[in-house]
Amino acid sequence: MAPKSSKKAVLTIDDAPSAELGLTLSILAQSGIKAIFFCSGSQILNHRDSLVKALQDGHWLGNHGWDHRAFSTLSLNAGIAQIEETEALLGPLRAESDCDHHPRLFRFPYGDRGLGLGSLRTFLGVFHPKVRALQRYLRTNEFRSPAQVGLPVPSQGIGFSAAVDWLWSCDSRDWVYSKAHASPDEYLQWMSTQFSTQSVVDDTPIFLFHDHPGHHRYLQVVLPMLAERFAFGLPGQEFGGECEYFRGDSVLQ
Ligand SMILES: [Zn+2]
Repeated sequence: MAPKSSKKAVLTIDDAPSAELGLTLSILAQSGIKAIFFCSGSQILNHRDSLVKALQDGHWLGNHGWDHRAFSTLSLNAGIAQIEETEALLGPLRAESDCDHHPRLFRFPYGDRGLGLGSLRTFLGVFHPKVRALQRYLRTNEFRSPAQVGLPVPSQGIGFSAAVDWLWSCDSRDWVYSKAHASPDEYLQWMSTQFSTQSVVDDTPIFLFHDHPGHHRYLQVVLPMLAERFAFGLPGQEFGGECEYFRGDSVLQ
């Protein structure tokens, strides 16, 4: 189905895989939207088949650390181990699904790059040895930033134009509504209000949702509304089109 809008957007879904990933995949299949699932290593083997299905359906799998620890609470070596051990499980999944041309992507749990949250800490992180070392580790191990996989104008934070990790620019707040036991209709109402009262986000928003229990019900009701406003696609694809994924380093600078 051709998108109704030419405004591009990327859908990312964190904390995968859950036992309900299969339901989320069905919802995405109905809409024809491809997503990036950022996976916690400790959950991968529990729901391996769902992740294989996700790759077969054309989605990408990114790395979200091993067990959702804030990287500011970890030593450099412990942080690197979180990334390495998760990638050691994702690599074979991509290979057996004939997807090893997919890029390596990483998102820090909570967006904590190693010095905690908040704009001041984020800014000071540019000068912090552990934060710098983690970015260097990602770069030398061939993780790719949004810009490196062809995503226009990613927002990576002040001083972090060269950051390799993936932040988001549009938090769906599904986690807030889930905590408050909001119904899908209540959630849809809030989301619709956001889009009627704000010009909303960047040129190419990176949406953040979560693969948590029950969240697929939220995705199901808001996705049609979002698909009216955005042409969702994966970076490097013709957004909303039928293009093949890029291969190798063809789009890397
Ligand atoms: Zn997370």
